[in-house]
Amino acid sequence: LQRTFSIIKPDAVNRNLEGEILARIQKAGLRVVAMKKIHMTREQAEGFYHVHKERPFFGSLTEFMCSGPVVCSVLEGDDAIARYRELMGATNPANAAEGTLRKDFALNLEANSVHGSDAPETAAFEISYFFNALEIT
Ligand code: ATP
Ligand code: MG
Repeated sequence: LQRTFSIIKPDAVNRNLEGEILARIQKAGLRVVAMKKIHMTREQAEGFYHVHKERPFFGSLTEFMCSGPVVCSVLEGDDAIARYRELMGATNPANAAEGTLRKDFALNLEANSVHGSDAPETAAFEISYFFNALEIT
């Protein structure tokens, strides 16, 4: 059993899609063990995406991530990290496979509707960045 961290990004929450996306996550067999809706400050978004701070898109990405509320959740299941990445689809929705969240919901490369941890170490960092022990069952 493994845990991963998910964000339903501002573009999706703005279009009132969090229910549909969470239903797809649950139908895929992943369990929601913690969840909250927050509106990040610029500093919080920059801390979350610190691994990308040297990338040319860092400024635009962090501005987008604090442009509106997001839904953060901790997902659990066998091989949850890889299974959620598969459900999300490619970063660029133009390359996302049929049946993936980004294929069905993403607007463009930046406003691509969902985030998912890419490795056990990043999942641990991201979960602890947004949730404390009392908030996780
Ligand atoms: P995420 O980390 O959000 O799950 P990812 O792991 O598929 O996505 P990363 O390479 O970690 O992709 O990029 C983080 C996010 O930065 C992407 O989801 C996207 O919103 C944005 N992004 C990535 N590449 C670009 C780019 N070239 N131009 C603009 N935005 C980008
Ligand atoms: Mg990533």
